Amino acid sequence: MSDVLSSGSPPSNGSRPRTYLPFVNNFCPRRSLETSRYGNYFLANGWRPTRRMEKADLIFIYTCGCFNSSEQRTLNTIRQALARKRPDARLVVTGCLMKIHPEVLGGDYDLLPLEGINALDGLIDARVKLASVPDANRIHPIGDLISTRDFLVKKFKMDFELTSLFASKVRSLFLGRTKYRGTWNIRIATGCLGNCSYCALKFSGGRVKSKAPEAVVEEFSRGLRLGEKTFVLINQDIGSYGQDIDTDIVTLLERLLDFDGDYKIRLIDLNPRWLVRYFDRWRPLLRRHASKIAYLSMPVQSGSERILKLMRRPYTASDIRECFRALKKDTPGLVINTHFIVGFPGETDRDFADSAALAREFDFGRLSIHPYQDRPRTESSTMPDKVPGPVLFRRYRALLSL
Ligand code: SF4
Repeated sequence: MSDVLSSGSPPSNGSRPRTYLPFVNNFCPRRSLETSRYGNYFLANGWRPTRRMEKADLIFIYTCGCFNSSEQRTLNTIRQALARKRPDARLVVTGCLMKIHPEVLGGDYDLLPLEGINALDGLIDARVKLASVPDANRIHPIGDLISTRDFLVKKFKMDFELTSLFASKVRSLFLGRTKYRGTWNIRIATGCLGNCSYCALKFSGGRVKSKAPEAVVEEFSRGLRLGEKTFVLINQDIGSYGQDIDTDIVTLLERLLDFDGDYKIRLIDLNPRWLVRYFDRWRPLLRRHASKIAYLSMPVQSGSERILKLMRRPYTASDIRECFRALKKDTPGLVINTHFIVGFPGETDRDFADSAALAREFDFGRLSIHPYQDRPRTESSTMPDKVPGPVLFRRYRALLSL
């Protein structure tokens, strides 16, 4: 435990404002937006961002535990920060990994659980309290979690992980940082209502807590007044919005899309169960406002009914097909992006063929393929019939090449 801050904020040498350096998984819009709120908080308290570990008075790491690779990148970022920070600087670690895989965390740094994040006020002697800082709407340029040299050592053991990590690093350089630049992001809720057997995210997000519709509409109209053109609704499953406050995602969208203007909304991370449940209302809404929907990103995850059941995804591949076919007929210009997980435990060639057929049938705007991986404490990590690496990697490449 560094000693400088235990007696309040680091001494500012008169003219030099204190500096902070945040890190987050640049690929995660939720946590990037949240970390941007913390950035606004530091700025409001007179701190300034720095990009240099050696220069920072406080290094703030928002951990990620969604994938093995992001956990590795998190642990490496902590290692690098401990090795390179000034002895009097503070290292604060928080985020999803604390809920997903807490056993791998702990050391000469401050661990702040998300539910206790307001303790930052005491750490930095805050004049402006964190609880009073509203949600951010713009994502700051934040340091990405650092990939490790360790993977090179492991290269011979886990080929596909390295390949996908290398690919994601390149993508993050060109896309991750830019993907959310110039967008007005609105956190509409936290958590979800899912119990997907492979998902570790549910351990950090918890059950859905929706923001009041009036607050979402206020943030949206403020963005319009500021001339924003691209809006992103943010949550780990935006479809679960409103289920805890007696409303729903379609009702919210009907209110937002009533605003006139030249803008587009990106609907990301929408569990397809909500498309199926409210399809009689989605269909006319999307037909009427297709020009205002930049894209719909709905992870179907598999085309096999058997695998969807094992994943605990509460919809069927035939439900999805029916909805997608109707949308393609009604609104041919509507862009639908999706995700597939390949190599889920027990996945046979037959199951994989079902996924490939679904991926081929619809010209998805973007197809994200994720090689299955065990995550701590998930149901699927205890399932038998794990798909061997070479088979998994062959299927991964096959879907990627579609
Ligand atoms: S809905 Fe999404 S975030 Fe929730 S458990 Fe399923 S995969 Fe995880």
